[in-house]
Amino acid sequence: MTASAPSDWHARPHDEAFTELASSADTGLAEGDAAERLARHGPNRIDAKAGRGPLLRLALQFHQPLIYILIVSGAIAAFLGEWADAGVIFGVVVVNALIGFIQEGRAENALAALARSVASDVTVLRDATRRRIDAVELVPGDVVWLAAGDKVPADLRLFDARALQVTEASLTGESTAVAKHANPIAADSVLADRANMAYAGTLVVAGQAGGLVVATGRATETGRIADLLDATETLVTPLTRAMERFSNFLLVVILGLAALGFAVGSLRGEPLLDMLMAAVALAVGAIPEGLPAAITVTLAIGVARMAKRRAIIRRLPAVETLGSTTVICSDKTGTLTENQMTVRALVAGGQHFAVDGDGYAPEGAVTLDGQPAAVAGPLRDLLVIGVLCNDAGLAQKDCAWTITGDPTEAALLVAARKAGLDEQQLRADSPRVDEIAFDSARQYMASLHRLDGQPVALVKGALEAILPRCSSQLGPDGEPVAIDMDAVDAQARALASDGLRVLAFARAEVAGERLDESALASGLCLVGLQAMLDPPRQAALRAIQACAAAGVAVKMITGDHAETALAIARKLGLAGPTSRAVTGRELAAMDDAALQVTVGEVSVFARVEPEQKLRLVQALQARGEVVAMTGDGVNDAPALKAADIGVAMGAGGTEVAKDAAAMVLTDDNFATIEAAIEEGRGVYDNLVKFIIWTLPTNFGEGLVILFAVLAGVTLPITPLQILWINMTTAVLLGMALAFEPIQRDVMGRPPRAPGAAILDAVLIRRIVLVGVLLLVASFGLFLRWRGLGASLEEARTVAVNVFVAGEIAYLFNCRNLRGPFWCCGWWSNPWFWGGIGAMVALQALFTYLPAMNRVFASAPIGPMAWLEIGAAALATALVVGMEKRLGRGRGV
Ligand code: ATP
Repeated sequence: MTASAPSDWHARPHDEAFTELASSADTGLAEGDAAERLARHGPNRIDAKAGRGPLLRLALQFHQPLIYILIVSGAIAAFLGEWADAGVIFGVVVVNALIGFIQEGRAENALAALARSVASDVTVLRDATRRRIDAVELVPGDVVWLAAGDKVPADLRLFDARALQVTEASLTGESTAVAKHANPIAADSVLADRANMAYAGTLVVAGQAGGLVVATGRATETGRIADLLDATETLVTPLTRAMERFSNFLLVVILGLAALGFAVGSLRGEPLLDMLMAAVALAVGAIPEGLPAAITVTLAIGVARMAKRRAIIRRLPAVETLGSTTVICSDKTGTLTENQMTVRALVAGGQHFAVDGDGYAPEGAVTLDGQPAAVAGPLRDLLVIGVLCNDAGLAQKDCAWTITGDPTEAALLVAARKAGLDEQQLRADSPRVDEIAFDSARQYMASLHRLDGQPVALVKGALEAILPRCSSQLGPDGEPVAIDMDAVDAQARALASDGLRVLAFARAEVAGERLDESALASGLCLVGLQAMLDPPRQAALRAIQACAAAGVAVKMITGDHAETALAIARKLGLAGPTSRAVTGRELAAMDDAALQVTVGEVSVFARVEPEQKLRLVQALQARGEVVAMTGDGVNDAPALKAADIGVAMGAGGTEVAKDAAAMVLTDDNFATIEAAIEEGRGVYDNLVKFIIWTLPTNFGEGLVILFAVLAGVTLPITPLQILWINMTTAVLLGMALAFEPIQRDVMGRPPRAPGAAILDAVLIRRIVLVGVLLLVASFGLFLRWRGLGASLEEARTVAVNVFVAGEIAYLFNCRNLRGPFWCCGWWSNPWFWGGIGAMVALQALFTYLPAMNRVFASAPIGPMAWLEIGAAALATALVVGMEKRLGRGRGV
């Protein structure tokens, strides 16, 4: 047997496929057999090779305009016979490309690994029992069950398909869903027409199916083309694009200035070769060599920090967009609340019962007016429907009660146990014949059972979905009586206004063995209500407060009842006593203009259908908001894609939602979104810090060379020395900024305006100021020491050290964009001190080590020179500190 050899699985009846793979639709594989097959076929995983080969990726590192200038500069130096200069320039080009190559590879791998870390579970039949396993453990011969929202985990020959719809865009490029069935089809049909096959990586958007795994991992159709796909995440973000534009601009400026210097010098009759060397110095000085690598590293560090806080970034630009998010639209259940349901109240036969106890432990009692209630008549009927029309399970493991399935349903089981009912017995006595599964849009679930020989439909769901279908209700003596809709509605509202989720329960006698929706359209008998508590998450409460301070609005968008939603929203501080909730029905009646006004005013949207979320996102975006939207179901995918940041639930979400999202929360918790926004703002700050730290050096160096040429003085710094400064300081000093902890005030300011320039006027002014200070200090000290009779080598060594010391001093200013550097804590960033220590040591070598003196034409200098260098550096830091203070005074 081979997993991939027969390519005609679609042409054969599924029985034959089962025989071929020695499996069975009734029992699936035995665990032992599956383990043995796993060892043979390997894990069901496509280890995506990078889309571009390593050589090409390395070559692309040289494909940058600024690097072109460096290469040309190196060639000119070589042409002039300046071999040391040429060697170092080419060395820098190569080292730079290698750093970029390695960093980019690491960032891409980290992103891919994170994407894989969001485990994708699948329902498989093994040893005749259905269980959930990680999709990587699937083997050929496994029987898997698919439902709407799943990602197809391997290539499957379908043997049972019910209204199955799959989108195969990842494979065929066709984005409309195709219907699938289980019958054999012509052997010569092409991939896109093989309607009885489901291929790995495609998405189930509707229906259910059973499938036999015929190929896994690399043997799947997707695995075969994986080499052709660019499987890795792109590292392009709005910021990297902005930097690219900036580089191109810089290129023109540098070329212009180099030409100017060249022209002026030549006119003055300076030797041509000297002028060429000066142009080279200008080019290498003005190019911020470390910038591209620093941006990638900073973003990658941000991604890792977010992952630590349980937010997995699937698309790199999201890291930046998070920093400018202005509105978060969040689900209620499970995101803002614990998703830990406990039934608190029951209404049956006109009586109100209380249920005590917390959590899923079935310890507590059902009481009526404080006394234990007799579990009979309508009360018993109500609890029994809760058990039978239910897919959840309850188990005790190591003294703790755990649930499987939907928490809403598990709560119903717990309530029944508290009343002394045995769900195993009830389910065995009245097996389910058919069902209509719960669906957020339908808002109810129904199951068909045989009770006393008669087929009876049991229904549970939202009050609005059940009540209109009822024509009677169960009276106190267990007999149907005329229904009083208003009274039931008032009872439900009263419960909901306490923040309880209210479910209505009904039943109907039906004909036949199959349930369909039309049979439940009317004539149901209402049996009662169960109301459950789902406490708000305390962490969400704090996160919402943090968002308010950070200028980020939070909107609750829920499928739950308006009263329940409002009550929870009030507890979370999202709504005031007079706030209103807008329902999905009201939304549907609004035109786009009215909707745009409403989304600005209202924070709670209830009974919203998933499809309406897209309209909400669009209305908010039309108001200029940057929207993060959460979602977990198949129908949420369009809204997740349309949102600026689609946020999917890692634990409770479908694969379709995760696929559409830019970020996945591994703990489904609202507070994690707030944490990610905080990190996003921190990352952006650190990027800006690096940029404003590095540019003045380049600016200053460029100015030094330009002035020297224009003034007809010897260059105070050689091209080689400039490269030394740029490379060592970028790695040792600049990179430390990527590790800066988040500034404390980061959530105390409004979101960054999307599209706003990276550098505002204040920061540009600072860059110019520092550049000019460096120019004055280095040029001034160079001339002074020349005047005192120092050799050219000594004077140049002073000038180089002025630059490095100035950069060290200015690094302190850059630790915090607004406040003084000690705001971030003296010792909060060990890289900072480590980097400075290493830089000082390197400068000592540069100045005193004879070998270095030979290569870089430097020379030892005395203590007086160091004193002046230190004073110049200190003055730089103080002037910038004062500039920051004055800026703050004006509200910057
Ligand atoms: P959110 O969108 O905030 O996660 P939600 O979980 O309340 O909200 P849905 O799951 O769409 O939203 O549920 C909508 C309504 O359907 C609920 O208010 C409840 O009345 C009803 N409901 C929820 N789960 C079930 C279920 N398993 N069976 C029957 N009805 C249910």
